[in-house]
Amino acid sequence: MSENKCTSCGHVGLGEGYVAAFNGLLATGCSVWVSGEVRRGALGGVKLAGGQPTFFIEAFRCARCGHLELFANRPT
Ligand SMILES: [Zn+2]
Repeated sequence: MSENKCTSCGHVGLGEGYVAAFNGLLATGCSVWVSGEVRRGALGGVKLAGGQPTFFIEAFRCARCGHLELFANRPT
């Protein structure tokens, strides 16, 4: 993926990374893409009912302009 081209400025060679989920100052995991609409539980939090396809979010950052290119190809 290092040969990816920035869709914002055209720079080639984006840095690989991920989108971390934070709870205060601590990383609680990696963010994932979830198929379908957001479902809320009784307390207002996001509810994963199960059976919904989920994929890790892979992020590639342009060193020139900071633009992020996101991909979700790897199932959780
Ligand atoms: Zn760029």
